Amino acid sequence: MILDKNKFQVIVVGGGLAGLISSICLQRSGVNTLLVEKKEYPFHRVCGEYISNEVKPFLEKMNLFPQHLKPSELNRFILSDIKGNIAEVDLPLGGFGISRFQLDDFLYQKALEAGVEVKTKSEVSDISFFEDEFNVSLKNGEQLNSEFVINAYGKRSKLDKAFDRDFIKKKSPFLGVKYHVKVDFPKDVIGLYNFQGGYCGVSHVEDDTVNICYLSRRENLKQYGYIAEMEKAILFQNPILKDIFENSDMLFERPEVINEISFEQKASVENHMLMAGDTAGLITPLCGNGMAMAIHSGFLASEAIIDFYKGKLKNRSEVEVQYSEIWLKHFSKRLWVGRKTQNLFGHQFRSGLSVGLVKIFPSLAKNLIKQTHGEVF
Ligand SMILES: Cc1cc2nc3c(=O)[nH]c(=O)nc-3n(C[C@H](O)[C@H](O)[C@H](O)COP(=O)(O)OP(=O)(O)OC[C@H]3O[C@@H](n4cnc5c(N)ncnc54)[C@H](O)[C@@H]3O)c2cc1C
Repeated sequence: MILDKNKFQVIVVGGGLAGLISSICLQRSGVNTLLVEKKEYPFHRVCGEYISNEVKPFLEKMNLFPQHLKPSELNRFILSDIKGNIAEVDLPLGGFGISRFQLDDFLYQKALEAGVEVKTKSEVSDISFFEDEFNVSLKNGEQLNSEFVINAYGKRSKLDKAFDRDFIKKKSPFLGVKYHVKVDFPKDVIGLYNFQGGYCGVSHVEDDTVNICYLSRRENLKQYGYIAEMEKAILFQNPILKDIFENSDMLFERPEVINEISFEQKASVENHMLMAGDTAGLITPLCGNGMAMAIHSGFLASEAIIDFYKGKLKNRSEVEVQYSEIWLKHFSKRLWVGRKTQNLFGHQFRSGLSVGLVKIFPSLAKNLIKQTHGEVF
């Protein structure tokens, strides 16, 4: 039992899916956990909000599936090339659609219910490891200590600079944009529409709301200066996207935008800290399972630490080895396939070729989708 109010068994940095899931699992197993989140719930994030069904049984078993929010059920996949030629396949496993605004807030409430101590509107500015203990500094000057740290602060943070991580030294050419809209769009479809230098996902979330989320090369924005101008000049060359955008009632005053999205390799353990979700590696969004990976890796990180407190693992080094090995087993191949597949998108010739291949060999497409997804757990 830890009595110092600034000392925890585990500090989890970042309250997205990886951080929320790991802190709930830890606290429910009796491990005293603090979750630190920079923002205040609920809030929107740039994300396609399609979650692969591989995590549904786990969420249901843990009483963390938000059935009452009525997520959409998505089981058909439509792919278009830049000119709007389409191919369609059934999704082997399917998924559900729910806004991060609702889902993360629901899990935050579950974390509080479980007894996790949560500091929102609090940013971690540095973490050091000394004499088998972590010292976690917050931006407001507060100093906290813990036996373990799980970093789940997402795809990019000032912390990556503080830790001198390799990927942060390279400039990344991608930006992400998201809208919620009302538009006539099939309820069970996830559409992926190519445009020059990017691709755009369209699918339902809850409440008859449709998510439009795209990844674009930054040169597109540089060339046109404003998001709206870029969309008209580039995305609208795909007639399907033009039609969807022009018939949408926008629910946000302005889009959610993020820059510098990197798909470079990252380590799953750094300086004794376990990295989960995007902090350990971001899969290209076209694979549509970054959220499932965040949930799964958050769970696996918590399992390694729980095993230590149960006496199944003898020391810190065994925790790190268990987590890094299981992380590699579940995620490294998918990340690699995702990076390779992304090369087929955002160009007329290659996107046209992929639409043609999906039309002629739908089983090939299903197999590729399987390669980027994990086993149900
Ligand atoms: C354009 C785009 C579309 C996508 N579409 C999909 C999709 O349809 N389906 C899918 O499965 N995946 C999709 N993804 C991927 C998915 O969004 C991520 O994989 C997922 O959100 C990762 O969750 P996470 O918990 O690791 O990180 P996040 O959800 O990013 O959470 C990280 C949290 O850490 C907090 N934080 C950051 N720094 C600090 C700090 N210093 N101190 C405290 N808190 C901090 C942040 O505020 C944030 O709340 C998409 C990604 C992009 C870029």
